[in-house]
Amino acid sequence: MKINPSIEKAYKVLDGKELSRDEAVELTRSVGADDLLDLISLANKVRKKFGPAFTACSIINARSGRCSQDCKFCAQSGRHLTQIETYPLVSPETALEAAKKVYDQGVRTFGYVTSGRGWTAPDDEFHRVLDAVDLILDSLPGMKVCASLGILSEECVALLAKHRVWRYNMNIQTNPARYSELIATTHTIEEKIETIRLMKKYGITNCTGGIIGLGETWEDRVDMAFALKELDVDGINLNVLLPIKGSPLEDLPIMRPADVAKTAALFRLVNPTKSVKFCAGRETTMKDFQGLLMLSGLDSVITGGYLTTRGREISDDDAFLSRLGDF
Ligand code: SF4
Repeated sequence: MKINPSIEKAYKVLDGKELSRDEAVELTRSVGADDLLDLISLANKVRKKFGPAFTACSIINARSGRCSQDCKFCAQSGRHLTQIETYPLVSPETALEAAKKVYDQGVRTFGYVTSGRGWTAPDDEFHRVLDAVDLILDSLPGMKVCASLGILSEECVALLAKHRVWRYNMNIQTNPARYSELIATTHTIEEKIETIRLMKKYGITNCTGGIIGLGETWEDRVDMAFALKELDVDGINLNVLLPIKGSPLEDLPIMRPADVAKTAALFRLVNPTKSVKFCAGRETTMKDFQGLLMLSGLDSVITGGYLTTRGREISDDDAFLSRLGDF
């Protein structure tokens, strides 16, 4: 059987050539199991040729809920009637305990995440975040610390760099042109992009991605993939919407595994050399198809749980990945 012409054309990525936006949109129109498997196979070849080595990271939700912002998908917005556990900033010792637990299981990248809009100036709480970063780095040799603290002023970014934060997570979430319509109205995409640029200025690498399945079109996904390419971020993280009861998106359907895998392949083909990581939604949406997802061009996962939902145990992910072998 002949390969779909749009997928055949995309083989040029293996020769180091770039996909155009129109070619990427064309790819998303491929349908059916044969096209999906051809697309995934190509994305996996591109990941093997250009992508980084496989890694896994873990996170701590260091401050949960009570957020002033109105991100439609988020369980932590104080504007939605969700049933999550909320708590103030944890102590540096609690953060260290969580980091040590995953360190002892072989994880060497730890993300420190707080709910909320961010910081306009380094107050006492921000200094406690910096204390936690120092404590983790000084106690666990070889551990890298990432942070996800929202929109930050230049003064705060400079402090993160001084305290050896390796990577910063700031998601653009969706097609930037539709941010206010699909995501939030209490802050702008431009403020987020400015934080990403500040990280670059201070030598902190960026982990920037978004969430799929919140009512965006395939063209929006293509636009997000190209926006990330243009921002030249180091890592791209993909999440799938888990419709949260009490949030404005509670009635949306969970995405089909085939569409999640197709999206992961699309992001790899548009961003061949970047780290493409799968985060929240892996277990809920993929269920028995996690192997398919791992073959769709990903080189990284979050293991051991997410911000407000449980994930897989690190030992289960380890066993799963070693059974996949040299995929
Ligand atoms: S995504 Fe962040 S800023 Fe938006 S509501 Fe959730 S915690 Fe607040």
